[in-house]
Amino acid sequence: MNHIRAEGIVIRSYDYGEGHRIVLIYTKDMGKIRASARGSRKIRSKFASFLEPLTGNRFMLYRRGDNPVYTLTGVEVFNPYSALREDMRRFGYGSLMLEIVDILCCDEDPDIELYFLLLEALTDLETGPSASTAWLFLFRALKLAGYRLNMFRCCECGVKPPGGAVFSPPAGGIICSSCSPQEPFWSVSEETLADIKNLGPGAELKSGSEKAIGNIITKYIKYQLDREIRSTGFLEIFKDNVLSGTDRDTKQLLGR
Ligand SMILES: [Zn+2]
Repeated sequence: MNHIRAEGIVIRSYDYGEGHRIVLIYTKDMGKIRASARGSRKIRSKFASFLEPLTGNRFMLYRRGDNPVYTLTGVEVFNPYSALREDMRRFGYGSLMLEIVDILCCDEDPDIELYFLLLEALTDLETGPSASTAWLFLFRALKLAGYRLNMFRCCECGVKPPGGAVFSPPAGGIICSSCSPQEPFWSVSEETLADIKNLGPGAELKSGSEKAIGNIITKYIKYQLDREIRSTGFLEIFKDNVLSGTDRDTKQLLGR
């Protein structure tokens, strides 16, 4: 039997079969793993508060043979990120960040840079403007995973567009008015491009930009990874599509 200690953030947990609770964890040294809290309801309820999404814990685990699911034997919290649970908006953005980590990472493929980026962003999210912190994290996480978005210069000719531009998922960024983008593409205002450039823990976003950036990220993930983002239900900003353009069904364009 292989006993392991692992530090990580709980992505989510769910009941599985008779007497099992599975917890999905993004760990520092092992990447994304699954662990099972087995045994009586009493034992599982002992772990319950530690298994809430967005909780930072040190886990004691063991692995039987090559079973893909670890067994959880102990847990201690190192940061509960309590402020994120006291504010639905912060919680929504925190959940969105974890969902993107889940989408971008394969099981047991560690990325220590992404892990520390996540910890830093969760800490910033507890105190600073939530949208700006979350979007900055998402742009950086996409870049680390090989899906860099170029929102500063035209992907075709390299110039900085003087005004607004269009966002093209196939190009992986913006296209200026002199170049022809591939479909699908959506217009992005000069104001939103300026807000993307200034993203950071202290930056406030204009409400139009918040929605537009949300649209850009969700459309890009849909196009590149064919995944719908579920945590958007927490966030009012995803209710409207504010980008105008060739809003065709991406699946149809990809022939899926
Ligand atoms: Zn251009």
